[in-house]
Amino acid sequence: MVELALKNVTKRFGDETAVEDLSLRVDGELLVLLGPSGCGKSTTLRCIAGLESVTEGTIRLGGQTITDRSPSDRSIAMVFQDYALYRTMTVEENMAYGLKHSTDLSATERQRKVQEIADLFDITELLDRGVDELSGGQKQRVALGRALVRDPEVFLLDEPLASLDAKLRSRMRTELQQIQDELGVTTIYVTHDQKEAMTMGDRVAILDDGRLQQVGPPNQVYRRPANLFVANFLGSPSMNTFEVRVAVDRDGTVCRYDGRDFARLPSEQVDASGEAVLGVRPEDVVFHADPERGSVAATVVVNEFQGSDSFLTLSIGDRQFTVVVPASVQSNPGDRVGVTVPPEHVHLFDAETGEAIRSPRDRAKDERRAL
Ligand code: ATP
Repeated sequence: MVELALKNVTKRFGDETAVEDLSLRVDGELLVLLGPSGCGKSTTLRCIAGLESVTEGTIRLGGQTITDRSPSDRSIAMVFQDYALYRTMTVEENMAYGLKHSTDLSATERQRKVQEIADLFDITELLDRGVDELSGGQKQRVALGRALVRDPEVFLLDEPLASLDAKLRSRMRTELQQIQDELGVTTIYVTHDQKEAMTMGDRVAILDDGRLQQVGPPNQVYRRPANLFVANFLGSPSMNTFEVRVAVDRDGTVCRYDGRDFARLPSEQVDASGEAVLGVRPEDVVFHADPERGSVAATVVVNEFQGSDSFLTLSIGDRQFTVVVPASVQSNPGDRVGVTVPPEHVHLFDAETGEAIRSPRDRAKDERRAL
């Protein structure tokens, strides 16, 4: 396994900053680069592959600086969404092409290598076929195989499954994860699909507007988002947010919304006061059919049946929010219901900066780590 390290990488196109001051380390894992369209994901990959020069910063591979090396000198393979296969060649020729031009392997060794990777991707019976005779899913397998046949130290994937149908996509996700696991090759996978990121990544790096917002295992970025952008970007339906006033009283910390006590938190969880944004995930809100039972009463606006569960849109005054309930819950528009926001599921964010307000305990932990 070889470590890829980006240090303070910035890429500008004229006045446009596509990537800003990005530092990341990836080593033998599958890191997903996630973010909305235009946030700089592809540019980051292209800089790593050497297809774009970086404006500032350095890229190191296995301890060697590769920032100014040509793409062919980087031992990095990249796969694009549009496959980019040679249409006049057979599958086998496509897969062997890179080996022929970038290694001194004999024809027999090249054939053995292609066979090995074809087995891995289950495309052995396609080796003699022309590219035009393949389905979209088969083309994508060939493109992935062609990239891996050269034993790259880093594998870069730019939305490789975007043009496949949902079922095939899901199967390919699992296969790709298994193959990456088996080979242990350092991999960066770009997507704007948060579900794909959460299911595939050993870690997920979230970008917005060229800047890294947070990096961590899927569970951590989902459960402990560093800021409002990450909180809103991850999760479907997305996190509910309320502008609250936080005050400390005898019993701890209270978050007031619209003149009501919306949530109560133990003071070891938060010691802030003043304006803040309270976030709570739809699946974490506790629903009560009886409006008297919740800490706040709300009105049902829409009930969307999803199969195993339902998404209820509720309103408090003119503020609407979503709650996930079991499909067996019978609630109709206009019904009065109750909700409770459990303290352990409350996320608080600074009203001005959007940064997460950390608990005193977490802050102390971070300080200890920094020593
Ligand atoms: P998508 O998911 O839509 O592919 P992305 O996150 O991959 O988006 P990039 O393609 O990296 O985003 O683009 C980041 C920013 O850089 C965008 O504002 C884009 O317009 C700009 N950009 C990318 N390539 C160039 C280029 N060659 N010249 C000028 N601007 C560019």
